[in-house]
Amino acid sequence: MLVIMAPDASEEQIDNVVKQIEHAGFSAQVVPGKTRVAIGVTGNVTPLDPAMVDSLPGVTQIFRVTHPFKLSSRDSRAENTVIQVGSAVIGGHDVVVIAGPCAVESKRQLFAAAERAKEAGVQLLRGGAYKPRTSPYSFQGLGEEGMKLLAEVSEYTGLPVVSEAVDDESAGYAAKYVDVIQVGARNMQNYVLLKRVARIGRPILLKRGLAATLEEFMGAAEYILAEGNPQVILCERGVRGFSDFSRNTLDLSIVPVIKALSHLPIITDPSHAAGRRDIVLPLARASIAAGADGVMVEVHTEPSQALSDGYQSLHPSQLEELVQQIAQLAPVVGRGFPQKH
Ligand code: PEP
Ligand code: MN
Repeated sequence: MLVIMAPDASEEQIDNVVKQIEHAGFSAQVVPGKTRVAIGVTGNVTPLDPAMVDSLPGVTQIFRVTHPFKLSSRDSRAENTVIQVGSAVIGGHDVVVIAGPCAVESKRQLFAAAERAKEAGVQLLRGGAYKPRTSPYSFQGLGEEGMKLLAEVSEYTGLPVVSEAVDDESAGYAAKYVDVIQVGARNMQNYVLLKRVARIGRPILLKRGLAATLEEFMGAAEYILAEGNPQVILCERGVRGFSDFSRNTLDLSIVPVIKALSHLPIITDPSHAAGRRDIVLPLARASIAAGADGVMVEVHTEPSQALSDGYQSLHPSQLEELVQQIAQLAPVVGRGFPQKH
């Protein structure tokens, strides 16, 4: 932070600002200018609260020069964070596709979708066992049983699995059964949950809140990093807008902005942004073109029978098409796509 003093600020006023900054545990560097003095504030993990100095006599302006999200910013780490999960690499040269059903409904349903996803050539599987649903009467997920099935399907396919934790109990099960722990859009600002899952030490897939600003999104990631877990995968999943043709609006502009600001990988979830399967493929292509490190999509072998999000779930043949197109598109934007194995 930079504190700018008025041109007529007295020595005493400057000394007073320096004293206040030091009193708050920061260092103050006085930088004399032609017409006025600036005071640089450094030396702490958290930024100084501007309210501590902005009303002091002689202070005219305050500028924030570093981001409030220090650890996730490129200021603290210039090179990209690359996350290895089993056979999958996220944030490296290759882009990834994560696919699976919205919810784990049964062993038969999960394995059917996972087999088709593996055949299509995806790198990770997804499936919710704890579903934050708008209505309390909707299917809420199989809970621990669902997580166990995910561990089984991971063993069977050899692919790592992503699943959501919503509280302390589900975080415990996630730690036991899954490879990547998802924090859903509705819980992006549940700071207790963020700290809880961060401490598990597994990669965290953090979804952007329905109306979260860039700063709020990065702040949430910072909570995980500040717990000593650097493995955060950001996920843009559509924000609330005025669209009357899609569930949400995929905010693709945040992808290159985050890429410039942060070393963390960012993927998109065109399924939850679209809310309808017919536009998932073009949104997935657009995401990769915009610089995303991958996409996460929902797939179901019988979407009309799905217990949640059937309308947006791809048919397996559509997932195959999506993977093929992304593999073709990736080299056009300087990326690659992993060989199927
Ligand atoms: C999900 O991925 O299953 C999900 C519920 O997504 P979101 O939190 O983005 O709504
Ligand atoms: Mn869903």
